[in-house]
Parts: sequence; C-alpha cells; structure tokens
Amino acid sequence: MTITAAAAPIAFQRRLTETPISVETREHILADPSFGRYFTDHMIAIDWTADRGWHDARLQPYGPLTMDPASAVLHYGQEVFEGLKAFRHADGSIWTFRPEQNAARLQGSARRLALPELSTTDFLESLRVLVSADAAWVPSGAERSLYLRPFIIANETFIGVRPARVAAYYAIASPAGPYFEEGVKPVSIWVSTEFSRAGRGGTGAAKSGGNYASSLLPQNEAQSNGCAQVLFADAETGTRIDEVGSMNIFFLTRENVLVTPPASGSILEGITRDSVIQIARDRGLRVDERDVLIAELCDGMTSGEITEVFATGTAGVITPIAQLKSREGAWGSADAAVGDVTRELRDELTGIQRGHRADRHGWMWRLDE
Ligand SMILES: *Cc1c(COP(=O)(O)O)cnc(C)c1O
Repeated sequence: MTITAAAAPIAFQRRLTETPISVETREHILADPSFGRYFTDHMIAIDWTADRGWHDARLQPYGPLTMDPASAVLHYGQEVFEGLKAFRHADGSIWTFRPEQNAARLQGSARRLALPELSTTDFLESLRVLVSADAAWVPSGAERSLYLRPFIIANETFIGVRPARVAAYYAIASPAGPYFEEGVKPVSIWVSTEFSRAGRGGTGAAKSGGNYASSLLPQNEAQSNGCAQVLFADAETGTRIDEVGSMNIFFLTRENVLVTPPASGSILEGITRDSVIQIARDRGLRVDERDVLIAELCDGMTSGEITEVFATGTAGVITPIAQLKSREGAWGSADAAVGDVTRELRDELTGIQRGHRADRHGWMWRLDE
C-alpha cells in the first residue's frame, strides 16, 4: 500500500466563522501577541483514512477538536508538525519563506512516524487558504509575523500498537511578536551531560512532538541554571555536539570558517540552517559541516579560536550564543556582544524575509493571491 497523496490536488471547502474575533480585540492582540498564545479565526482540517486517502479538505472556524479517548495519538505520540511564518511586506502583500522545504520535511517526518504523507501541493494550498482567510491577522512591522503550525496526528480509535489507519492534518495560525523583546541579545546555553535528544536510528531527524516531550526535563535544568536552551551531545559518545533543543548550532573560527555539525540523521535539518549555509557561502565564507567535540567548542570560546557562536531556527531566526555552561563550568562571557558575522547573516536573512533584501534564491512564496 502506498500512502502518498493522489496527484490531483484536493479542493478545499470554505466555511467561514460566524463569530470572528472583534477588530478591537484583534488589534489589541496584534499590538502585543507574544508567542503561541492567541489563534486566528480559522483553521485547516484534512482527514485521512487508509481506504480513502486524504479527503474532506476544509477551512473551518478555529475551535476544539472532538476526539475519542482511545485516539492513537493520545497514547503513543504518533504526531508530526511543522513551523513557518507568514510575513507582511511594506506594500501589504503576504509571503512565506521556503514552504516547499517544510512540505518535504513534513513528508519525511510522516514517513518516520508511519503517518500518511501530504503532497507538497496540498500542503502549500492549505497555507494559502488559511492565510487568505485570516490575512487581517498577519501583523506588520519588523520582527512580527503570523506563525503557522501545520501538523498530522494519528486519530484512529484503537489502542493496539500499529500505525493508525485514520489520521488528520490540521493547520492553525498564531500571531507572533519579536523573539527578542529588547533587541537581539546573546543567550547562555546549558550543555546537558545527562540527557540526549536523539540516538542512532531514532527520530531525531523527524519533527515530532515526542522529541520535544523528552527535551522538557533538560530544558528545566537549563532554565534553573540561568540558560535559555539546552545543547545536546550525541547519544553514543556524549562528546560531540548534536543540536540545541529546537535550534541548530553554528560557530565561526578565527580563520573565518563557519562550522556546523553535519546532517547525520540525529539532528533536525533546519531550513534556517540550510539558508544560513547558503547565505554564508554567497558572502564568500567557507562553511564546514563536520563533527565538533563539545570540548573543541568550549576550549575555542575560552582561547579566542572561536569568535562567534549562534543557533538557528524559524522562531528566533539567528540567536547569538554568548556563553556555554554545564555542571563542569562556564565558557565564554554572558555579556558578550553580538558578533559581526552573526549580525550580518541575521540582517540578510530577515531582510529577505521582510522583502527589503534581494531574494536571489527564489525563497519567498506569496500567500495572499
Ligand atoms: C524545527 C527545529 C529546528 C529548526 O528548524 P527550522 O526549519 O530552521 O525552523 C531545529 N531543531 C529542532 C529539533 C527542530 O524541531
């Protein structure tokens, strides 16, 4: 049985809400949306069964799902998701960034979790339908966006352990304010020596809720040590850098080489990561994708061999890292300034997304037409 979607695109039914959030309330929310707290008036739903494939694609009023307590996702975590942003450009048009990459990654994640794959065409169309209906929810202004969260869940009423024969795709949207409320500020990162996020042959390369569930306890440890995020080591040796909880990691050497761990199957291959590699090469920087020992990073931050460290992901785009901490000590300085290359790469990438820098690679995709 193949579970890829039929080649013909699905047609979306549109049922608009009769009780939209008032303009006043929406404006109030958009003035200070923070992150992931408020949701727009509509959502996308597409059902899937093993017999019928994907069907009943629809835009519907945002609201609670009804599900059976025996629904598979509630028991075995068979779930995958994506995260991307819609940006309002100065002329009012609405765009997103490399969404076909999110479509492909969702397909890869779904394969790994034995969920059905949604075609790239249907994925892109779902975003266009949602954002067109909720266009008024896309904030304008620097560092603001509408965060889009597509996801697939197993939804069969069955608690035996096997891939579900009923699943559903949803997409919801949530306005997002600046990731850094007071301008881009370097963070401290906690190196977890006890926990790892992914092992060989595991689900590290899939964007799945379970990976996040297992990162919450180490994340607590990071926070209680004054750190924003966790840096995980590889599960096998505990000595190599894997990635930062929900972001990929890079550093710059004194010789101006940008280094990041390779896409070895345990890290989640970020679209921001891939874009930063491309932009860095466009600017003439050498980029090395290679294994990095945690000791190399710590020693380099102390000796000055490593001059800049940052993490990449859709939410914060590029987050500068000033300091590493672990149970064994601290490296770098918590109040280090943002590095020049870090800032240039961030300005370039956010500039492309905002429509004020040339989109040389054809990364932007229009959502509102
Ligand atoms: C989503 C995610 C990233 C970043 O990916 P982007 O496509 O750049 O947003 C990195 N690590 C993990 C574990 C992730 O889930």
